[in-house]
Amino acid sequence: MSAEDENRLGEMVHHHPDDLLLMDYASGALGEAESLVIATHAALCPLCRRKIAEYEAVGGAALGELDAAEMADDALAGVMARLDQSLEKPVEQAVASAHADGGDMTVPQPLRGYLNAALEDLPWTNVLRGLDEVTLQVGSNDMVRTKMMRIQPGAAMPQHTHEGAELTLVLKGAFADERGHFQRGDLAFTDSDVEHKPIADDHEVCYCLAVTTAPLRLTGPIGRLINPFIRY
Ligand SMILES: [Zn+2]
Repeated sequence: MSAEDENRLGEMVHHHPDDLLLMDYASGALGEAESLVIATHAALCPLCRRKIAEYEAVGGAALGELDAAEMADDALAGVMARLDQSLEKPVEQAVASAHADGGDMTVPQPLRGYLNAALEDLPWTNVLRGLDEVTLQVGSNDMVRTKMMRIQPGAAMPQHTHEGAELTLVLKGAFADERGHFQRGDLAFTDSDVEHKPIADDHEVCYCLAVTTAPLRLTGPIGRLINPFIRY
């Protein structure tokens, strides 16, 4: 990818994970599902790729400052091996394959490895009018739910808050809520302080990857009505 292409892509992504989240990712502190969202965002966002590389370098330098005598040889080797596995590989893979797939740029690695099908061909289940979902098996934490969402053009989601956090990454199409407009590569971070009502742009189906760390709580009039019937 040329520097020019990188800049163009960088300008298209407007909503990024905050620095704390990127640091947690770079240090291997995030769970598998949250890491998947950040790595997939990074595949589409040169800016965050650069930041992650910087945090990784800082982490490596901090390790280097440890008195080597205090650590058994194999302990250090183990840490370095884990760093290699958990940090560098996902981003490198993500970046390499995001641009190695010719025409179809819709699903970058590492997400593609979890889908095993084109977006259109996933086993969608209708949840609400205009909203289909597919749950993905990512990681082993039962409190964390990973899903793909398909929102029909112009469809409005019920107003809701979140008891925990939700990370939503747009892969195709776009949606808007009280906080702004989110399109391909944009990451929306939502926690219990935010009450929002996303609406998909009306010219295109919107596909998102969403990770929630606790049940959603629907708060609007429709939400209160249908809440008992949705398995969130
Ligand atoms: Zn970014």
